[in-house]
Amino acid sequence: MGIKVGIDLGTTFSAVAMMDEKKGQPVIIPNTLGERITPSVIQFTEDDEIIVGTEAKEAFEAGESGCASVFKRSMGSQDIYCSFNGKRYTAEDLSAILLRYLKEETEKVTHQAIDEAVVTVPAYFYHKERQATMNAAKKAGLNIRQIINEPTAAAMNYGANHWRENARVLVYDLGGGTFDVTLVQMKKGNQMESLQTTGDHTLGGKDWDARISMIVEGKIEEETGLSSTDYPEIHQVVTQSAESIKKQLTTRNTASVKVNLPNYGWYSTVVSLDEFEQNTNDLIERTGTLCESLLRGLNITWRDVTDILLVGGSTRMRQVTTYLKRISGHAPLSQVNPDEAVALGAAIQVHLPLPEYSVITMASANDGKPSNAFSPFKFKKATATSQATPVYSLPGVVGKETALNNALCMNHVDVVAHAMGIIAVNAEGTRYINKTIIPANQKIPVKCAEAFYYYTSARGDNEVEIYVLQGTKTPLECQIIGKYVVSGITHNREDNPTTIKIQYSYDINGMVHVQARQGNSTLDLPIREEPVPADMSKYGQPINPEDMKPVAEPLSVVMAVDVSGSMSGDPIKDALDAMCHFVDNFEDYPGDIQIGAIAVSDTSKIVQSLTGNLSKCKSSIKSITCGMTGYGNGDHPFNDIKSMLSSEKGRKIGIVLADGMWSYQDQAVAAAHLCHRLGIDITGIGFGSADQNFLKDISSGDVQAMLVDQSELTQSFGKIAQEIGGGSNAKKGRTGRQTSVATWLAINEG
Ligand code: ADP
Ligand code: MG
Repeated sequence: MGIKVGIDLGTTFSAVAMMDEKKGQPVIIPNTLGERITPSVIQFTEDDEIIVGTEAKEAFEAGESGCASVFKRSMGSQDIYCSFNGKRYTAEDLSAILLRYLKEETEKVTHQAIDEAVVTVPAYFYHKERQATMNAAKKAGLNIRQIINEPTAAAMNYGANHWRENARVLVYDLGGGTFDVTLVQMKKGNQMESLQTTGDHTLGGKDWDARISMIVEGKIEEETGLSSTDYPEIHQVVTQSAESIKKQLTTRNTASVKVNLPNYGWYSTVVSLDEFEQNTNDLIERTGTLCESLLRGLNITWRDVTDILLVGGSTRMRQVTTYLKRISGHAPLSQVNPDEAVALGAAIQVHLPLPEYSVITMASANDGKPSNAFSPFKFKKATATSQATPVYSLPGVVGKETALNNALCMNHVDVVAHAMGIIAVNAEGTRYINKTIIPANQKIPVKCAEAFYYYTSARGDNEVEIYVLQGTKTPLECQIIGKYVVSGITHNREDNPTTIKIQYSYDINGMVHVQARQGNSTLDLPIREEPVPADMSKYGQPINPEDMKPVAEPLSVVMAVDVSGSMSGDPIKDALDAMCHFVDNFEDYPGDIQIGAIAVSDTSKIVQSLTGNLSKCKSSIKSITCGMTGYGNGDHPFNDIKSMLSSEKGRKIGIVLADGMWSYQDQAVAAAHLCHRLGIDITGIGFGSADQNFLKDISSGDVQAMLVDQSELTQSFGKIAQEIGGGSNAKKGRTGRQTSVATWLAINEG
């Protein structure tokens, strides 16, 4: 059996850890050079060798060619990050190389193969960046159990060593380019729960470096008269040494600066800690503001925070500790090595059971239909939880708290940093909005129970596009994480206007999944992913009211009336009146409409072929007489209905009116079923001595079978007309709204 490891795949440094059975806690696995962390730098040499780690970092700093660093910042982008020796690499490829190196080093050092790994990512990573991390791990030949958030991992490591029920730990992660803050609570039953997470992805160590440059350039200009605005080379030279000046100030009160200036020569000066801190006060305050907004969001204050945990290389700046102490009253914990805590936590997580999905209900996306109409989607469960049994047993430890048994009893619940929404049309049909389906800070894995949308499209297509957004801003200000095309949508009377239920979910890796169902169906509609179009600008513009004018798909209807002897007198008169009334309902139909009529008794006869001329259609209906095709019930109309409708476009509807039994019911039912299979929606209306079961057999669905009183015929036909988009519904255009792509009509959105 091999080992399970946790991997911190960092922007600047990476680290690998595993559980140590003897020590009872996670330990760092050094690389073959004995280093506990490995620089995340790669060098491609002329002779096609790949160097990873310190040697590559040194080459990079010496300005050698073929080096790649900080590629983590470009994860998720399909762009080529760099190319060497004619080969092109994306950030994902480079991460795969780094991970493979880490894997091989670990296997050399431990003499064991890696069975499973947990890899960490920043909490703010979007779907694409997580997906890219997952892909990179696969390319590296790693079997990934889970991707977890870096602050979460740091908190896990801390929790394993300092378990205190109900303790609330604020994880303050200031890295090279990003800031993340997460509040984690230790709950009953060894449960660690991330309560909320937020951050600023444009704030990190590099901003402090930039301020160092600013200070030094100010001194240069003051003392030499050379301004970096006039001489950009000065800015370049100073920037190169800014980080090392900053690091000096971590251990000393002054840093000496020596730079070789173009057109000047060597220049030296000093930067004091005071100067540095004064000039970066606004930056550190930005982190404080985010911490406080997080606390406010949870309705708590600094007093409710038990500990502050520092993570990330930039928390080594002395300013961080003094500042946090001042605003919070807590001395942040510094005993945890910020470079190692994340990998150590990941090494714990790799042994823990995976959590189950929770379900949230988004009332605001619901159109008010009964929510119990929805049966929960079945999810492919993340792999079994049988791994829960600790892999390491602790010999002779009874009642003694150790990191290991704490660690392996822990159970962590994480939250998503980003809300997830859909591009929808607002209720007024005037603009595109981002309709949130899963709000931020939900515990993962999570799925939304139901979000109803009216499906609206031109031409009554069978497909609809979903744009999945992360974030809560307007569509174009959000990350558009994917375009999904739902297909297999049908148009039928039971579901008019067509409603599609969308279910979003975040899995345990913080990755996004989309499912869709129509109406009350319990079947998932097929979904395929397509590239997001380069030009999404229309979603930032007001919707042209013309585009939202009602349209409807083409509609073809055939009515068949029983003209056998039993219909003579009032029944046939009432039936023909009801049929004419039905035709009247389609005068304002916004799409193409054609109606035809059949008389049926001993034989079936097409009295009116499909026509868009509705008054002509009515005249033909009025010409129907009892007995015109015989007085018996020897035939059925379904072959004629089939021949009239099967090759028509759009919705196809057959309405069959009968007052009694037919002689050859089996043949009628078989022919009706063939119509159903050809997409013809059949409604059977019966009155008098009609057989309810027979009506159900010929109809497309039970609700389409109607047994009514003769006096209700007009009303029944009217009801069908309404349901298929005629009558007052035609004026509302409920069967569709024309937009050049299918969009979603949001409910309750202002
Ligand atoms: P990331 O997670 O983005 O890779 P790290 O957590 O590795 O970032 O932190 C990198 C940042 O930490 C860099 O901006 C670096 O300058 C800063 N840093 C590292 N060591 C020190 C130090 N001794 N003093 C101040 N900043 C430091
Ligand atoms: Mg980091």
